[in-house]
Amino acid sequence: YLTEKADAQQFTAEDENLVVGLASDAAIAIENAHLFEEVQRLAITDGLTGLYNRRHFFELAEREFERTRRYSRPLAAMMLDIDRFKRVNDTYGHAVGDEVLQALAARFRENVRDIDLLARYGGEEFVALLPEVGLESVRVAAERLRQSVAETPIETAAGPLSVTVSLGLALAAPDCQDPATLLRRADEALYKAKNAGRNRVCWA
Ligand code: GH3
Ligand code: MG
Ligand code: MG
Repeated sequence: YLTEKADAQQFTAEDENLVVGLASDAAIAIENAHLFEEVQRLAITDGLTGLYNRRHFFELAEREFERTRRYSRPLAAMMLDIDRFKRVNDTYGHAVGDEVLQALAARFRENVRDIDLLARYGGEEFVALLPEVGLESVRVAAERLRQSVAETPIETAAGPLSVTVSLGLALAAPDCQDPATLLRRADEALYKAKNAGRNRVCWA
């Protein structure tokens, strides 16, 4: 109808109303679609760091776990915890602590591959699931990350802060039945790293 009118070059005020009406309906539909996407994104990510939240991590990890088992592929888990983080909060305040968390999440992301699954596991704990990776490669990646954190102070509102992290690693062995078991082992290794003096990488 409008094309015909355009050819005839005779738009009326009614036509204009029609077009404006259609456009605003479309705008609302697009706006709704964006909101829907945004709500979905918020549901799976952690607001502070932008990493996946724990719930979504487990959903994806379940799938990854199935795949690696079916094809007998290697799979590694890396658990990271900030050393003496409570001191950062106590000394500089919670807002500066948050800045440190954000910077470390970014550092974490830079030190793994795109296919690795990253999440904020708890308050100041991060986790990565690394498909197609054996112990040597995950050890190298973890050590690189640990060093990068220890050597490069984080810029915050309170000035540059030096922090260290401890990491625990585990591999999905044949007796490892599910992601929760794998992560428990990585967590045990992390516990070892803490007990051994922090700022280090241990493996199960
Ligand atoms: P450790 O080396 O044994 O890990 O010592 P830690 O002080 O890091 O461990 P602890 O578990 O005692 O403290 C963790 C702290 O992390 C306590 C809590 O206030 C802080 N924390 C957890 N979530 C957040 C957050 O979202 N923001 C900030 N600023 N701090 C957080
Ligand atoms: Mg902790
Ligand atoms: Mg800690």
